[in-house]
Amino acid sequence: MSELLVANARVFGAGKEPVNVYARDGVVVSVGGEVPSSAPVLDAWGGTLIPGLLDAHCHAYGSSMSLEELEKSPMSWIALKAAQRLSRALSRGFTTVRDVAGGDPGLAKAIACGLFPAPRYLYTGPALSQTGGHGDGRHPLYDDPPYCGCNTNVVDGVDAMRVRVRELLSKGAHAIKLLTSGGVISPTDPIEVPQYSAAEIQVAAEEAERRGTYVTAHAYSPRAITHSVKNGVRCIEHGNLLDAPTAALMAETGTYLVPTLAAYDAMDRRGDDVGLTPVGREKNTQVLVAGQEAIRLARAAGVRIGFGTDLMGDLEDEQLQGLRLQAEVEGLERTLEAATVTNAALMGLTNVGRVEPGYAADMVIFRGDLAKDPELLWNGARTVIQAGQVVVA
Ligand SMILES: [Zn+2]
Repeated sequence: MSELLVANARVFGAGKEPVNVYARDGVVVSVGGEVPSSAPVLDAWGGTLIPGLLDAHCHAYGSSMSLEELEKSPMSWIALKAAQRLSRALSRGFTTVRDVAGGDPGLAKAIACGLFPAPRYLYTGPALSQTGGHGDGRHPLYDDPPYCGCNTNVVDGVDAMRVRVRELLSKGAHAIKLLTSGGVISPTDPIEVPQYSAAEIQVAAEEAERRGTYVTAHAYSPRAITHSVKNGVRCIEHGNLLDAPTAALMAETGTYLVPTLAAYDAMDRRGDDVGLTPVGREKNTQVLVAGQEAIRLARAAGVRIGFGTDLMGDLEDEQLQGLRLQAEVEGLERTLEAATVTNAALMGLTNVGRVEPGYAADMVIFRGDLAKDPELLWNGARTVIQAGQVVVA
């Protein structure tokens, strides 16, 4: 039996008085109740305690800004970099991540066996792209470079889509990720143009749904989002160019939005240092400012808003800045709700995202009052607890 007693912690959103939180075998047993005297004590000194954070859009295998470089790199390099990227995410307080282009059963097994510190890891495996789509990293000027397919797969046609979706699901994919519009770092596809035919999206959604899961889609423009949602997609990644009618459609169909503001802000400031191409820079400008407006429109329409970051290459260290950018639009409380309760609901996790009896003992403690000083969330020192174990003191 393992125990942990977090003493004198202000649980965010649950009253002003510090309380004791007691966890046993990785699960919260009581909040503010009686605790056994035998438990090891971690004193929070009146600091704020929140549930462990969830990032619904990360890329463990995304260690370069260049899709071509990623797909040409040896898998040993990609996997070791992934371990480092995931360990850093955990140290920032992200105790659960959803990887929406990458991951495989080997990486998941390494995490489950505790080979390195990592968040709870849900992965879609490679994101699926049409030929010439966002996940087709082949440069228009060169023929057929080697293509390992660890981040994206090019899949065309209904039958091929059905087979690939079944394969991914049988190999432990949490959900299926489709690339249904152009993107920032891909070389040949305009960002607003929809990708994949209705029939290709429908077959992926049908297979995922039958298996008890869902399809999430990378999409920016109203046209691409509408095309995705009408053909069965249940979650939209990015969504920066959203308009009011499209937001209404998302709300009506219960489709989640996962904004990824950190990526555009970071690429705007640091793109030149990390190898963003001129084409990528131009596309980034197109979606940067629109990203926060999309959240306003989604909120007004009643869309369920999660939280993601989408940081490729060295930009990974900007993960906490995503919380700052979302809080600029939504305020602290809603941003935390997005990165805990809503993301957990999106991922179908019924035991994470809250500090309550029966929930996983994943928690982050800040040295101060988060309600008075929201900046602590992205700038402050923190203690990270995962499954009742202190992983960052
Ligand atoms: Zn992404």
